[in-house]
Amino acid sequence: MNLLKKLESHKLLLFVLKRLSEGYKSSDGRIYLVGGAVRDLIIDGEKINDLDILITSGYPLDYAENLKNEGLTDHIRGESIYNTAKLIIEYQKKSFCIDINHARTEQYINPGSLPEIEWVDSLFFDVSRRDFSINAIAMSLNSDSFGEVLDYLNGIEDLGKKKIRVLHNDSFIDDPIRIFRLIRYMKRLGLTIEGNTKSLLKNAVIDNLLANVSGDRIFDELVKCLSEEYSHLYFEAFDTYGIFKDFHFDTTALKRFEKDPSFITMKGDNSLDTILLKILLLGSPVFLQYNMPKGYKRFIENYLNNCIEWKKRILLTSSDSELHGIASSLQDESILAIAFSSVPEDKACALIKHYFSSLKWMKTHLTGRDLISMGVEQGKQISIILGEILEEKIQGNIEDSLEAEIEFIEKKLGRNV
Ligand code: ATP
Repeated sequence: MNLLKKLESHKLLLFVLKRLSEGYKSSDGRIYLVGGAVRDLIIDGEKINDLDILITSGYPLDYAENLKNEGLTDHIRGESIYNTAKLIIEYQKKSFCIDINHARTEQYINPGSLPEIEWVDSLFFDVSRRDFSINAIAMSLNSDSFGEVLDYLNGIEDLGKKKIRVLHNDSFIDDPIRIFRLIRYMKRLGLTIEGNTKSLLKNAVIDNLLANVSGDRIFDELVKCLSEEYSHLYFEAFDTYGIFKDFHFDTTALKRFEKDPSFITMKGDNSLDTILLKILLLGSPVFLQYNMPKGYKRFIENYLNNCIEWKKRILLTSSDSELHGIASSLQDESILAIAFSSVPEDKACALIKHYFSSLKWMKTHLTGRDLISMGVEQGKQISIILGEILEEKIQGNIEDSLEAEIEFIEKKLGRNV
């Protein structure tokens, strides 16, 4: 199989791959694109921005420096102990993240711990250490065979059969994090688990292999699942395979949100932390056992302890201004979680939707500086008056226009209008 034809409909990607190929100046080495990008090209995936490049000779960092000198990139990050380099190539407003690795083998001495690495010059050995056959396909970037696919482990056949398959029986024992990776690819690419792999997965769960993995790595994997568009499917699969033994995820609220997230994206507000929101929607204490970003833990605990009370307070409001007062004193993620955790017919849900669709965005047209130029004294008074204007607008006593606000202030200052 040769992917050159397919690459013609990915012009920017083709350009970048050609430059990566030309920039590799080794006399005895070979260079390949491996992993997800090759897999996604074969199945006609759309966004192919993350490229894993494998070289069989030379130092990734030297190669990256070479690409920098040729003007292909300004951004290089090297990790010499791992013999890897990372770079970003920006071309025609598109950004490609590139990982460059030297071919290697990995030997796992203790389950779940970091492997011992040996540098090799063989593509075959390198792809054999990978997680699944569908991620072990390579494409040549060498000028004598550019675009040619090397599929030593029958990944293409598995892609055709829509199967996900580990490469050897100790795969989950070596690196139990592959349990999460399996669920992620299965759900994202609509695959089923190959028979032997399914038995190995079941054994891995019975043997509680994930107990050997650090909480940081597990949380990273959970975040990757939460970043997917339909993440509820991933959490349902965790339950199906019993991955979090004692915990079950109730995905009802998350599903509701993912089926119709429209009202949170209104008014171009993108300050929302959707990962945090999705964690709240799952409402599971399972997340609390991992090292999460600063602030998450307290936020989640606070939500779990108070959400019922907050909902009650929202339900007891009898005016827009009261609703605005309560809703704006809480974090957006918390009130949205309350809304989506309620059935759509619930009054709290309607109130929160109303807050999000209009009240939240109400602002004064006048600024503090305008008030000063109108004769209001500088100081605390300014924010008090701006608060008053907003309150009057929420109550519907002032129209939403600059003129109406000016008129209100003039009256307040005792001037004729
Ligand atoms: P995605 O689309 O999720 O980024 P990807 O295949 O590019 O998919 P990465 O996590 O970027 O995934 O990893 C790149 C490649 O490295 C994989 O395709 C796989 O070949 C290999 N790999 C990554 N993690 C593991 C692992 N835990 N065990 C074995 N191989 C792995």
